Order: sequence, then C-alpha cells, then structure tokens
Amino acid sequence: MKFGTKVIHAGLEPDSATGAIMTPIYQTSTYIQDGVGNHKGYEYSRTLNPTRNALEINVAAIENGKYGAAFGSGLAAIDCVLKMLNPGDEVISTNDLYGGTYRIFKTIFEKYGIVFHFVPMGEVENVSKKINDKTKLIWVETPTNPTLQIIDIKALAKLAKENNILLAVDNTFATPYLQNPLDLGADIVMHSATKYLGGHSDVVMGVLVVKDDDLATEMYRIQNSSGAVCGPMDSFLVLRGIKTLHLRMKQHCINGKAIAEFLQSHPKVDKVYWPGLTTHKNHDIAKEQMKDFGGMVSFTLAGDRLEEALEIVKKLKLFTLAESLGGVESLVGHPATMTHAAIPKEEREKSGVVDTLIRLSVGVEDTEDLIEDLKNALA
Ligand SMILES: *Cc1c(COP(=O)(O)O)cnc(C)c1O
Repeated sequence: MKFGTKVIHAGLEPDSATGAIMTPIYQTSTYIQDGVGNHKGYEYSRTLNPTRNALEINVAAIENGKYGAAFGSGLAAIDCVLKMLNPGDEVISTNDLYGGTYRIFKTIFEKYGIVFHFVPMGEVENVSKKINDKTKLIWVETPTNPTLQIIDIKALAKLAKENNILLAVDNTFATPYLQNPLDLGADIVMHSATKYLGGHSDVVMGVLVVKDDDLATEMYRIQNSSGAVCGPMDSFLVLRGIKTLHLRMKQHCINGKAIAEFLQSHPKVDKVYWPGLTTHKNHDIAKEQMKDFGGMVSFTLAGDRLEEALEIVKKLKLFTLAESLGGVESLVGHPATMTHAAIPKEEREKSGVVDTLIRLSVGVEDTEDLIEDLKNALA
C-alpha cells in the first residue's frame, strides 16, 4: 500500500458491532466480562481502548513500523522512551533540541541518574567521540527547531548499531510523509501528534513507533504502567487529521518553498533556513533522507535590531503569533523571546537563535496571500 492509501485505510475496519465506517469514539473506561477473564480483548482503557488502538495501528503503518503507542502529549511519549533506561546509562542528544525535550532530560531524568550529552549532530564525529560503554541511547531531532539543521539519520543508525545503542528520532517536523526514520535504521520514532499529524491545532498528543518485538513489549509495559495515555476523543481527532496528512504536506511544501525563495531575495532578510535551499549546509543529506522539505521556514533580518523583528511579527496578519506549529493555518514565532527565552542570550546565539530570528510554520493557505502578508510586514 502506498502512503496516501495507508493514511486512510491502515488499521481502520468498519466497526464490527454496528458497521459504522468511521472509527467510533469508544468513550468508556471498562468492558463487560462474561465470567472472569472472558472478554473481547478489552479490559480497561488505560491498557487498551479500541479508538486509541485504531490510531496506534495506523501510525505504526504510516511510519513503516510494526507497533504504535499513543500518549497524552509528545513529552509523555519521550518520557516513555527515557523510562526504558537505567540509572548510570548515558544519552547523546543534539544540542539544538526542542526546549521541552531538553527540560525533561535535564530536570526530570538527570535526577534519576541518567547522564545527558548535548553535541552538534550536523557532524557525526561529534557523536562518536562521546560514545562509551554506558551509552544506551542516541536522541535525534531532524530538521531541528528553529534553525532547521539536518542530521544524517543513516550515518547515526550505522554508528548506533556498531555500538549496540538505541537510536530514537523525533520526526515531528518532517512527518512520516517526508521521512521514515525506521527505514533509515532508527529503532524508535517519536512524534508530537499535536503538530502535523493532528494538523488542525485542536489536540495535544504524542506517539511512538517501533519495529522490534522486545522494544514493543517494553514500550507497552511503560505506557500501561505509567499511564500517560490519550483519550478516545483525541485519538479520533488525530485519526481524522492523518487522513489528509499527504494532501496537507504537499501544500505545506509548495508554500514553504515559495516563501523561502521570496525571503531569500528580499533585501531586508539576512539568512533563510529551509532544508530545500541549495545554500542549506546539509541540503544533500536532506535530499537523500526526505521526500520534500516541509513547511517550516526560519529567517533573520539584516542588522541586529530586536525591535524590528518584533514589529514585523506584529504586523503580519495571516501568520498568527503563537507557539506550536504544523496546523493548516500559518503561525509565526519569535524564538528569542518565546520558546528560547529561558536560554541565556550568549548560549542561544551559538545555535543561531539571534534576536532577529523569526520562525514561520507555513500553513496551507493560498501561496500568493501568504507572500503578500510577508511583503507588507517587511515593507
Ligand atoms: C511540540 C514538540 C514536542 C513536544 O510535544 P507536545 O505534544 O507539546 O508535548 C517535541 N518535539 C518537537 C520537535 C515538538 O515540536
């Protein structure tokens, strides 16, 4: 089955009880037992719920995995992966990590004796230098937030295999439409389904997908034991979102390209970060591991005036100022004062998050209207 068919059909059978074509929202915590232990496969909804299960089968299929697990947020999914480790284990992670991931690593799991190293993963040698016999997990995010750096998943998968280390990839920015980390050798794929999978900015959810049977047993044991599951209504919303993922992504990519090229030619703009530009540092790797380059575009202004950046962000009308990304509507963010405000200026500037950096989550509106909006705001 090809991608556009899988998003609509994988895991989705008409409801056996009623024939309903759409997966029902099974808003129930528990299930009848005809005598002790005699049930239809469902006992309690933390462990298994039919609506959530349909979604889990669907996401596993679209990531070319075998097993999916859905959680109450992207961070709850990350929490599950970290709980597979033991005190003393070491993790190597990219240095320009999503802020919330950095926070759970440093303020939750470091306390339980897990050691984290943060390195620029654009160069694979930076990772190999940090590997020792305690290294158990490599955590990758690609493209990264907000400067859209590209990390070579295949090269890291090879390194991880040679050293018997798990490789996990946060695939939120790329989506399974553009990139399938399991096919490139990763062991675990994670998504904040809040973003492109849901696609309509109306739900918070996370998912994990794996291929390996033993990893799946661990994943489901932790999902059930920690209990950070999502509800049936949210599962239904994300299932519905995924059905148009391929259509939305095509338009996100068309708009992302048009806007990156427009910004590149604008005299007030200095740097443009979009992996599809041939000037992007790791464009060749992006071309190799991604099908297209997505709708996330960041740029900086010529000069270094914070006020100018804030003014532009305020003047935009179709791009709404808000956190988050991946919805059908365009959003704009100012990382230095929003998502990265907690990081000292000197530190954040090392990874390109300067005062004039503006991040766009380009939606699926008409291209001309979005460019017009940017043109007016930059004028
Ligand atoms: C949003 C996001 C997360 C966290 O997901 P939540 O659903 O907000 O918990 C993790 N990684 C990336 C890349 C994200 O964009």
